[in-house]
Amino acid sequence: MKEKRNEFLIHGIPASPGIAIGTALVIRKAEFFIEERNITQDEVASELARLNDAIQLTKKQILSLQNRVQTILTEKDAQIFDAHLLVLDDKMLMDEVENTVGKELKNVDFVFNRTAQRYIATISKMPDPYLRERAQDIRDVAERIIKNLQSKTYSILDRLPGQRIIVAHDVTPSDTATIEKENVQAFATEVGGKTSHTAIMARSMQIPAVVGAQNLFLDKIHNGDLLIVDGYLGIIVVNPQPNTLKIYADKETETEKYYSGFLKESRLWPETLDGFRIQLAANIQGPEGVPDAKRYGAAGIGLFRTEYLFINAKELPTEEKQFSIYSKIASDMEGHQVVIRTFDLGGDKLSEVITPFNEPNPFLGFRAIRLFLEYRHFMVTQLKAILRASAFGNVKIMFPMISGCEELDQLLEILAECKAELRQSGLPFDENIQVGIMVEIPSAAILAEELAQKVDFFSIGTNDLVQYTLAVDRTNEKVAYLYQPLHPAVLRLMKNVVDAAKKRRIWVSVCGEMASEPRFTPILLGLGIHELSMSPSAIGPIRRLARRMRMFEVEKIAATALKTSDPKDAMRLSEEYLNNIAPDIMSMSFK
Ligand code: PEP
Ligand code: MG
Repeated sequence: MKEKRNEFLIHGIPASPGIAIGTALVIRKAEFFIEERNITQDEVASELARLNDAIQLTKKQILSLQNRVQTILTEKDAQIFDAHLLVLDDKMLMDEVENTVGKELKNVDFVFNRTAQRYIATISKMPDPYLRERAQDIRDVAERIIKNLQSKTYSILDRLPGQRIIVAHDVTPSDTATIEKENVQAFATEVGGKTSHTAIMARSMQIPAVVGAQNLFLDKIHNGDLLIVDGYLGIIVVNPQPNTLKIYADKETETEKYYSGFLKESRLWPETLDGFRIQLAANIQGPEGVPDAKRYGAAGIGLFRTEYLFINAKELPTEEKQFSIYSKIASDMEGHQVVIRTFDLGGDKLSEVITPFNEPNPFLGFRAIRLFLEYRHFMVTQLKAILRASAFGNVKIMFPMISGCEELDQLLEILAECKAELRQSGLPFDENIQVGIMVEIPSAAILAEELAQKVDFFSIGTNDLVQYTLAVDRTNEKVAYLYQPLHPAVLRLMKNVVDAAKKRRIWVSVCGEMASEPRFTPILLGLGIHELSMSPSAIGPIRRLARRMRMFEVEKIAATALKTSDPKDAMRLSEEYLNNIAPDIMSMSFK
């Protein structure tokens, strides 16, 4: 008989709004899959044959990966896999596994994992940094071998057994890029923050999510448990009792009604009561985001995160392929702006082929334009595809992760060369295409005035700007309490950017997650931001809010917020104002 379990709550970070009631599918980390099993003497040979097959398969996979990396990147980059191949040839490790299986009569997965983990632990403690790095190679290879031993596919998210709430240690952006959306009712993860890309993807797919539920909930939730995921408050209810289910079912109906109400307002101008009109635009990850952008009344695409086009691809999409995607979006948007951001891979958006590097600090490492300035042909292919698409609509180019003028100059030079090539081949493009940059590194915000002389617009990437200004990893739930978008240091940097833009008469947008949070809207508008770009479904509440504000009131709030030394004071000011003008939005957004 199934054990009857009591209802209990697990708290995490609310990452994507909505309520889901459903059955848990618990995905454990690879090492948790390994069971310890006794085998008979007769089974030893077949267990060792399994190990041999898994090693051969792993070798084939690594060689093929190395090959692809060599073709796409450089020979030097491909060499990192030599170290992986050496692990496979490590006789000491493999002999020890073989002997132990025969001696202890245990299944080979268990013995291999235990032995590999011991090697990793010993090597990680060695004083020589070169040797310490080898521990990571062994870890990578061991994970592959175990997956192959167990014939596990890389992501079970690709083949869900029906509608489920995904409960996992982590769900990566590459998982979310291939996920079967119809079957995912919600995500609940142990790690992650509000602006990690998993959370951003969940919001964009309109899937409720709670992330960063730290207290080891994988041990507390079982496969098949009934769960409620409350993406508004960041709560997971395990084994809810009938009265809790009723409360949440009512809440679900109420929120559905509330959100569908915004669709009726999607044609209204986002204009303040005293006549200031702002732009509300949509952030998309691919062409599939365009219908939602239009349905929710976006004035254009403010951020197209193109890296999602090949986060799981085995190679770089060709110029033709990219051109067909970009030009289709441009023409589907019928003259409304489409800001295409060049690839921003790296950080928490990793691709097995393009970013196969193990970096100690990926957010401070080889990311976005840093990668593409080295692999210039990527940048050229993409820029040519974007330029050609500009003949089909109102396309703009945006460069991410700019830290200073020199980098931007290099990019503008490449862009000029791409234009010259297209001219020579007689391919049409918009000669006056606007070029902008993400302002998301504090140095760029400080140098805004110099940068403003070189571009047509700024888009403030608050997700990264907050992370880099406050030195708080945006994906790390342990420091999530320090991730404060209203921190005066962040606000003052934003003010510097707006002032520089004003002086140089260029427009400025915010495309980080801050743009979609009603609590921040008065301060962003009060600072003088012209455009807010967000997941399409977040546009409704912000439009309604903007239409109830007065510019002179929010300017006052922003001015006071800039002088505060405590982010809580800025938040209090904003909330007091919102409680007055928009109690409906306040009560629904933070229920
Ligand atoms: C940002 O940093 O705010 C941003 C919009 O870019 P991303 O979230 O893709 O890093
Ligand atoms: Mg960013």
